[in-house]
Amino acid sequence: MLADLRKIVLEVNSASSLPEALEIIVDRVKKTMVVQVCSIYLRSEDESEYVLMASDGLLQEAVGSVRLSIDEGLVGLVARREESINLDEAESHPNFAYFPETGEERFASFLGVPIVHQRQVLGVLVVQQRSNRRFDEDEEAFLVTLSAQLAGVIAHAEATGAIQHLGQGSVARFYGVPGAGGIAIGHCHVVSPLADLNSVPYATCTDVEAESSFFRRCLTSVRDDIKSLDEQLGERLSREERVLFEAYLGMLDDAAIGGEVVLRIESGLSAAFAWTEVIKEHLRVFTSMEDPYLRERASDVRDLGSRVLAYLQEKQPLKTDFPDRCILVGDELTASILGEVPRERLVGIVSVKGSSNSHVAIMARSMGIPTVMGAVDLPFIHLNKRTLIVDGYDGVVFSDPHDGLVEYFEERLIEEQLAAARLEEHADLPCETTDGSSISLWVNTGLIADAEMSLSRGAEGVGLFRTEVPFMLRERFPTEEEQRKAYREQLVAFHPHPVTMRTLDIGGDKALPYFPIAEENPFLGWRGIRVTLDHPEIFLAQVRAMLKASVDLENLRIMLPMITNLSELGVARMLIERAFNEIVEEGYQLAMPQIGVMLEVPAAVFQAREYAKRVDFVSVGSNDLTQYLLAVDRNNPRVAELYSALHPSVLLALKIIADECRKESTPISICGELAGDPMASVLLLAMGYDGLSMSATNLLKVKSTVRSVSMTYCRELLARALTEQDEMGVVTMLRAELDLDKLAVNRPAGRRVQAAL
Ligand code: PEP
Ligand code: MG
Repeated sequence: MLADLRKIVLEVNSASSLPEALEIIVDRVKKTMVVQVCSIYLRSEDESEYVLMASDGLLQEAVGSVRLSIDEGLVGLVARREESINLDEAESHPNFAYFPETGEERFASFLGVPIVHQRQVLGVLVVQQRSNRRFDEDEEAFLVTLSAQLAGVIAHAEATGAIQHLGQGSVARFYGVPGAGGIAIGHCHVVSPLADLNSVPYATCTDVEAESSFFRRCLTSVRDDIKSLDEQLGERLSREERVLFEAYLGMLDDAAIGGEVVLRIESGLSAAFAWTEVIKEHLRVFTSMEDPYLRERASDVRDLGSRVLAYLQEKQPLKTDFPDRCILVGDELTASILGEVPRERLVGIVSVKGSSNSHVAIMARSMGIPTVMGAVDLPFIHLNKRTLIVDGYDGVVFSDPHDGLVEYFEERLIEEQLAAARLEEHADLPCETTDGSSISLWVNTGLIADAEMSLSRGAEGVGLFRTEVPFMLRERFPTEEEQRKAYREQLVAFHPHPVTMRTLDIGGDKALPYFPIAEENPFLGWRGIRVTLDHPEIFLAQVRAMLKASVDLENLRIMLPMITNLSELGVARMLIERAFNEIVEEGYQLAMPQIGVMLEVPAAVFQAREYAKRVDFVSVGSNDLTQYLLAVDRNNPRVAELYSALHPSVLLALKIIADECRKESTPISICGELAGDPMASVLLLAMGYDGLSMSATNLLKVKSTVRSVSMTYCRELLARALTEQDEMGVVTMLRAELDLDKLAVNRPAGRRVQAAL
């Protein structure tokens, strides 16, 4: 059964369109289950009906024309109940509906299972049999398993199908997770990592001759590489292994893959896209083979595919061809890619992978660039150069919008600018409540340090400088002197305000291209202080650079990330002291900076007082603390809805930390994204946080919220929030109490967009 499942899923995966995928499903299921009918009903786009989209067994004229309203028939019942229905006498069921055009009355037994993707019922998969027999448990389980596996494939094929109609007046809409609020209208630029077969954007060529000869030149280069590899390794390889090289060379011939690609180039495709398409087709054939040896050969085809692709992409202009009003789109965008696009051109970001607390989304928020993350069904390779609208509030991307939709979003953009202008009124006012309690507002910096903008909005310092960002933008570790210069710039820009520099925090979703960390479970692995304590040479060089940068300024604070054990703090402190003494011995005159820890691991919450005793300040990293407390990967769009720093348990942990730090009179602040959430700011005020550190774009929203409430009221809201049962309760209560509309934040606009469509 497992083999049947695997085979069907692979075959469906290889389909080039939604109708083809559906045809394969109904045909294979009918044969495998030995039934007389297999049909698929899919929900219509306006969600009002289920449409018979494919059938093997019912009359073909019925396909596309039989439509059931959502509460009609057994199909509607399966969808509504979101569970399978197995009947041996379907006609006697009260929900049975008769459709003469299908010839259905002859089929007594019925088994229908819902097709569910991301909690949405996409449709219903049905098998039917003429005789009165109940499908057994194994058959039902088989269909349920198959449907669960195919749901994602169908959703993806639907999304890809949607763009096949583009240019014919239809808009395609794709859903993801809100990454950074705001609206962007611009042109898609697909980012494809070199030699990645899954990310090559669709492109055509204008000069077929030139493109074909370029392709042949690339093949020649790969042939030469393979031959020289064969010669180099000749002595050490067995005969069987050498045969592999011959097979590679054979595949590149005109009579084989090479020839197929040339034909596609002649039809107008670019060499890179044509090559990728052909390779992917061969890959599908190999992976669906019964014979395990042949199936294994898929990895050889993939290897060859990447080798040739690397040459085909060599001629690509890399950093210069970003369009104006560029919307960066890719499978897995990283924080370092953002640095490559000229800031004035970048208006929006869409990533297939990742979630709202991935670092690329955090960077995007700090840069104020509307972003959608986790758009898992986005057929991004087909979107290159198309016009897109990114709705970062609702996490939706529109491709090829018509004029009406563009106008609608342009109006929203204007509303947004007006709201932002109104907030400017608060720029010079202090951040205090109506009854005189104040809280410091700090900024998080990294990729950009717009000191002027931060200071003009009332920032009182930098609460988190993510030092890993300058590390990510290089091709090797920066030297001590290079680091010193970068840190000095920050310290000078904000002087005399304090600047909190976090020691290198790599791992998780932050990789350095020149120091790869490949792990099964990166967020629970070698991250932050764990890496730097294992590499004291990296830690010491960084701390020395920070200390030297602070000479004569004395506004440096050093902060340690991912501390889980008191001993880690002890060792880090010892290293900092060693670096300090060395520098003093070298003749520099400086004061020892303040040293603090980030509390972002649950274990540290329960030892908060111990940490507070040993440091000059504590800062809560609520992004990681939330993911670890709720056991929700901050990077995974599938569980994005479960990730919320307003969960009552997270709030309780934040309160414990504040209470414990107060017992030691240690200043306590928070530098995770929660600090920039106006709703959360009133709760953090009430808990006794001294400072909130956030991206500069949120400063005025938070300030205007703080200025609109009294401390007494904040304490009341906190008491109520802590008794709520879940995040939804907390959010509903705060929304009802606070006037957030004027802040232009978190404004889901689903209904209004529907009208504009
Ligand atoms: C955090 O975890 O809250 C934090 C500020 O650090 P980062 O998001 O860089 O992990
Ligand atoms: Mg963190």
